[in-house]
Amino acid sequence: MRPTSPLDRVAGAHDAAVLALARRGEPVSRGELAEAMQVTPQAVSKILSRLTDRGLMGEVGTITPGPGKPTTLYSIVPSSRRAIGLHLTRSRVHGVVVDLAGEILERRELETGRLQPVPELIETLAAETRALADTGPGDLLGVGIGMPGPVDWAEGVYRGTSEPDAWSGAPIRQLLLEELGMPVLLDHDSLAALVGEKWSQPGLLDHAALVLVEDGLGASLCLDGAIVRGAHSHAGEAGHTVVRMGGVLCSCGRRGCAQAEYQAALAEDDEDRAADVLATVVLNLVRLADVDRVVLGGRTVYAHHATSMDAIRRALAESLEAEPWLHVEVMLSTRGTDLIAVGAACEVLEHEYGLPQALVLPD
Ligand SMILES: [Zn+2]
Repeated sequence: MRPTSPLDRVAGAHDAAVLALARRGEPVSRGELAEAMQVTPQAVSKILSRLTDRGLMGEVGTITPGPGKPTTLYSIVPSSRRAIGLHLTRSRVHGVVVDLAGEILERRELETGRLQPVPELIETLAAETRALADTGPGDLLGVGIGMPGPVDWAEGVYRGTSEPDAWSGAPIRQLLLEELGMPVLLDHDSLAALVGEKWSQPGLLDHAALVLVEDGLGASLCLDGAIVRGAHSHAGEAGHTVVRMGGVLCSCGRRGCAQAEYQAALAEDDEDRAADVLATVVLNLVRLADVDRVVLGGRTVYAHHATSMDAIRRALAESLEAEPWLHVEVMLSTRGTDLIAVGAACEVLEHEYGLPQALVLPD
């Protein structure tokens, strides 16, 4: 495998915007791109020639919409690049390799069954990466890891919870980078999941919350087109917002946190109460951040998705009844249990070819 240099990144916002428009699926023409981006067709030609020279996009045919010359259509070339994503939990590594479109080429699952000491963990992550590295065509850009937080995305460090464990403070990104010699990104699982959803649906989730329920309960936000990370890479810890004063004792030391209430309800087989807790979390996020889409994902949500979706839709309908101009769509991630691994891989794609955070995609 060839370590990709950072120079593989796109030339700028316009190149990224063309790629994002092309990622929506349908082949695009020069004229359509020029109109969508509010630039001249000549400018689009330059961008397209840069992207086709690098194999990221290609001509896929022509149409003749009327009299005159046929129009050339362009698409992204999914097979031109690959990225690996690993979903790390305390007892499992779920890995995928995806193409430039974010489609899965291969997946692997490894049960470690326990919290491995850090040196052993790095060996495991490296071995899983190497096992996926030769699958599929195209340049391999790097590996992304999504794991339960708190994670410092900028530093690539797992911060650890209030009860320190073997991984607390581990510079996982740097250690794995030294082991593999390729770019590595480390992120909170719910953020990785949202980046992945955004990658495969460009423009749809510019004002969105993703609520992830795995072993814990967390959320991530995209506001005005930009992923929200916060001062300590810690935004979206919705699981530790209080939904019931004086409620169940939480692992964080407080009472009535959404995560503790949710887990307590499920432990008592009270699926309806758990769904109500989730609905409260969603409603609070909608009220706080004014999102128009909420994506639900994670292994625990899939097991109870019908009840959860019903409770959330009901709570939203009741709460927003007096404000008919507020539309919030609730959807279930289509990625199933691959959600976080795919998202972690898409973070690598996003890092190389994504829109600069300040730029919102044109409609
Ligand atoms: Zn808590």
